[in-house]
Amino acid sequence: MSKSLQRIRGTQDIWGEPADRFQTVVEAFDRVRRLYAFQRIELPVFEATSIFARSIGETSDIVSKEMYSFEDRGGDGITLRPEFTAGIARAYLSEGWQQLAPLKIATHGPVFRYERPQKGRYRQFHQLDAEIIGTDSPSADVELLVLADQLLRMLGIDHGVTLEINTLGDDVSRAGWRDAVSAYFAAHSESLSADSKLRLDKNVLRILDSKDEGDRALVRDAPHVDAYLSAEARSFYEKVKAGLRAAGIAFVENPRLVRGLDYYSHTAFEFVTDRLGAQGAVIAGGRYDGLIPTLGGPATPAVGWAAGIERLGMLIDAPAPPRIDVALVPLGEKAETEALAIAATLRRAGIACDMAYRGNMKKRMQKASASGARFAIILGDEELARGQAALKDLASGSQSDIAIADLVDAVRGS
Ligand code: ATP
Ligand code: MG
Repeated sequence: MSKSLQRIRGTQDIWGEPADRFQTVVEAFDRVRRLYAFQRIELPVFEATSIFARSIGETSDIVSKEMYSFEDRGGDGITLRPEFTAGIARAYLSEGWQQLAPLKIATHGPVFRYERPQKGRYRQFHQLDAEIIGTDSPSADVELLVLADQLLRMLGIDHGVTLEINTLGDDVSRAGWRDAVSAYFAAHSESLSADSKLRLDKNVLRILDSKDEGDRALVRDAPHVDAYLSAEARSFYEKVKAGLRAAGIAFVENPRLVRGLDYYSHTAFEFVTDRLGAQGAVIAGGRYDGLIPTLGGPATPAVGWAAGIERLGMLIDAPAPPRIDVALVPLGEKAETEALAIAATLRRAGIACDMAYRGNMKKRMQKASASGARFAIILGDEELARGQAALKDLASGSQSDIAIADLVDAVRGS
């Protein structure tokens, strides 16, 4: 195959069973977000590069090495969104959504990261995203986590997945914690990776999220935020945990959990599984009270999460392939035209049906059986002349002639 016909590395053509899995995840998300009264929004796939660079943080993995950035024909710096939250925060300010706060919103679609492709890790992948903007209530954190838990239940994967939570504290807490972490890593600076040596000056807390093996060993003994939490931050965290317990959500506290983006404060969480090898995080998020101010907006508390659609899709049981109710088998040219009319009538009545475009009787009957349809409607000249068609139950093989005008009732009634 010529190189130009190959998929770009890290992208996917999703079809067949994986496409059914994808659709199952998206449909469950749409049902659950309605149950929780989250509004659906649609946003651009690209934004000004500065939107991501400023909010996610220059020293984060995403901004430092994973963004698809380019100059457009007008010379503007553009980036394909590597995540949803920064674009949502931008829209919140551009669209004057302050008036609507608190705002509960949901979306899904493609996101882009230049990462090393492997199972469960792509360069174009897809996320579900849910956010509550404009409230500092810990109830919002809880509501988002209960929503995520219900999504996992709907998908039948709540047992294989564990919710891990942590707090990153507020600004006051983080200042003390940062000093302690800074002193700790400075004392071990020779053992740090090159990336983390840079982070030491620029953004020391980023080291806690390093994927480097050597760094990870050091991170194990780094100071926890716990000792530095302000009374307020501690109380916020306690309220989130009390809410989760009240809602019957099981969780594990993980004091090592930090997120890969700079804008988080207070609650951070991940739903993790050991069923996907190294790609263990399926839903991840937290509170980001500092994000909107980094974009030049007013202090606006907010919380949200994103989930990998492909990763959720890999965890669920294979969905039943989509089935039609009726396969139409017309014999002859006249019957073919009549079949188009019958198909339109059945479909308008909400009955799913299909018809092969070509082939002899035998081929078309084979196709009808393979389609998984419950019935075949066979249309021959003789039946047509009487205003009838043969309705065949494909499971039992029994067949009877029915007036064409009664077909909808006959299919529905059985
Ligand atoms: P990881 O630790 O696996 O790199 P992350 O912390 O970068 O994940 P987030 O930025 O929080 O992930 O994205 C939210 C979710 O999106 C993840 O929990 C995961 O399910 C999914 N995800 C992240 N990166 C990829 C990718 N390259 N391919 C497929 N899914 C991904
Ligand atoms: Mg990542």
